Amino acid sequence: MPADGIRYKRVLLKVSGEALMGKRDYGLDPEMVTTVAEEVKAVVALGVQVCLVIGGGNIFRGIRGAATGMERATADYMGMLATVMNALGMQSALERLGVHTRVQSAIPMASVCEPYIRRRAIRHMEKGRVVIFAAGTGNPFFTTDTAAALRASEMGCDALLKGTQVDGVYTADPKKDPNATRYERLTYLDVLARDLQVMDASAISLARENRIPILVFSIHTPEAFAEVMAGRGKFTIISEEKE
Ligand code: UDP
Repeated sequence: MPADGIRYKRVLLKVSGEALMGKRDYGLDPEMVTTVAEEVKAVVALGVQVCLVIGGGNIFRGIRGAATGMERATADYMGMLATVMNALGMQSALERLGVHTRVQSAIPMASVCEPYIRRRAIRHMEKGRVVIFAAGTGNPFFTTDTAAALRASEMGCDALLKGTQVDGVYTADPKKDPNATRYERLTYLDVLARDLQVMDASAISLARENRIPILVFSIHTPEAFAEVMAGRGKFTIISEEKE
């Protein structure tokens, strides 16, 4: 059972590939991967069941490949393979910290990790293991944001967490516009209607249909993930009602 004051029993954290890049312009920054792993460890210690979806944008994006003339579907498969590399990097960092993990890939890779099996993933979490979902949805033309909303729905998560570069959703990019203000609460429809760049529209719609609140927080603020689990700290919550 989660510790006192913890609002969620099972959550999915989406971490973009870019977040794992740290200050580099390509690939993984081991320090940053360890930092994220520490954040996850702190939440597991609160008794929350955690699963992760890791992006691949730090290595390869399908759109980028398609722009060079590659067939889009092929480029997207390369993007999905990139997420597997990131998932293995995250697994290694978590296990070094003593957190038990399993990687499950939507594209079966028998000698590297488990295939995605919904009921098995749930069982792992019930046993206190962190499940890292790799290869997105396994389908081209999708993103890992959609994979995150899909897996959160399948796992029956109470919340979908998105760790970003800033501490929530802003009216404009706060790194470019000093007058940008942070929203405390938004509805799914607000995000879609105002075209706020949080997650892509299919991810938002899927979370909405399955009534999974999306919590957007900064992956760079120490202990922010654990704070959000207790309803503290800075974040934006996206749900059906503004209240
Ligand atoms: N991708 C895909 N299907 C999926 C998830 C991802 O084809 O279900 C591919 C797509 O090419 C994408 C790449 O994998 O560009 C990396 O994922 P994403 O861009 O979502 O990573 P992030 O932006 O979160 O780092």
